[in-house]
Amino acid sequence: MAIQEHAAAVLTAGVDAPDVRLVGVRKAYGDVVAVDGVDLEIASGEFFTLLGPSGSGKTTTLRLIAGFERPDEGRIELAGRDVTGRPPYLRNVNTVFQDYALFPHMTVAENVGYGLRVRGVARRDRRMRVDEILKVVQLPGLGDRKPIQLSGGQRQRVALARALVNHPQVLLLDEPLGALDLKLRQEMQIELKRIQRAVREVGITFVYVTHDQEEALTMSDRLAVFNDGRIEQIGTPAAVYERPENAFVAGFVGASNVIRRSGRTFTVRPEKIRMTNDGGTRRDDENGATGRIRDVVYAGMFTRYVVDLDDGGELVVVRQNLETSSTEALDARGRRVLLEWRPEHAIETKPKREEKHESS
Ligand code: ADP
Ligand code: MG
Repeated sequence: MAIQEHAAAVLTAGVDAPDVRLVGVRKAYGDVVAVDGVDLEIASGEFFTLLGPSGSGKTTTLRLIAGFERPDEGRIELAGRDVTGRPPYLRNVNTVFQDYALFPHMTVAENVGYGLRVRGVARRDRRMRVDEILKVVQLPGLGDRKPIQLSGGQRQRVALARALVNHPQVLLLDEPLGALDLKLRQEMQIELKRIQRAVREVGITFVYVTHDQEEALTMSDRLAVFNDGRIEQIGTPAAVYERPENAFVAGFVGASNVIRRSGRTFTVRPEKIRMTNDGGTRRDDENGATGRIRDVVYAGMFTRYVVDLDDGGELVVVRQNLETSSTEALDARGRRVLLEWRPEHAIETKPKREEKHESS
């Protein structure tokens, strides 16, 4: 961007502008429309997640925000400034990738301080900021190690520290915990949330990509559900989970559990369904249904039951194993049951939007 243009953009930038704004952004690779008209506003300091299945356009959206890609259409703003045509190094944005991309021959401190060194920050200042950020990610004293001497979780923290030390306005994270095993991933989710709260006061905004709905619900202030290059719903975890706007969101963020009643479609969350053995009289009204248990999945803390309904559909029911043993749970297979839920837990959803046919 030309200097004059840049100056003008700075002057017209709104004080209360969102940290990240996408307006009608579209990006195609040949015939594949990766991002198909995305509008998005992310507030300063927010933990915002792009959630969706593989191939839904999350990474491309992140790369567009970072400046690694240019949109075919639409506009990208950071703190109210149009950065659509600006290269990555002129955007105050840092990215953390899943594979960490640490320099193996450098120590932890050198890795973390690399960005500062490139920007010409003096050695003493650099050391201070590196030490400070290593404390934030809880790796104090490990500055002299090489990446190979660290565990997976520690390496992830170094990658995070290396991005945070630059005080980016926006931190972009693309499935950063994807390579970790489940237990470590869950620990790091909580850890990452703690770090985000710690740096929120300096105004760092987190934009996080994941295909894992539980991760998105655990960590986000708000999330956008992606499907096929478009956003299906934006909201808080509670809103998206409890009030999915359509069948895609209901199915992706939780079990699909769709019921049809007099031409309308509803979804009921598995934990909101009461299941009793009284499946004798056939029922398929707004607050209940009868059926037969087809499948039982014992998962330790809870059991998941798949019930074939008498009227044709199926519902997943989840029950805590409060008093049931695994044998009792598994014995329930084949049993007739009555399912009931409270009227307010049957959420009406719009049908899935039609699949795109055109590919241009
Ligand atoms: P996600 O991160 O949600 O898995 P991506 O944004 O990586 O999805 O990809 C969205 C779609 O764009 C996919 O169909 C993918 O194959 C395609 N795509 C992404 N990057 C490229 C590329 N560089 N060249 C061609 N197609 C691409
Ligand atoms: Mg991706």
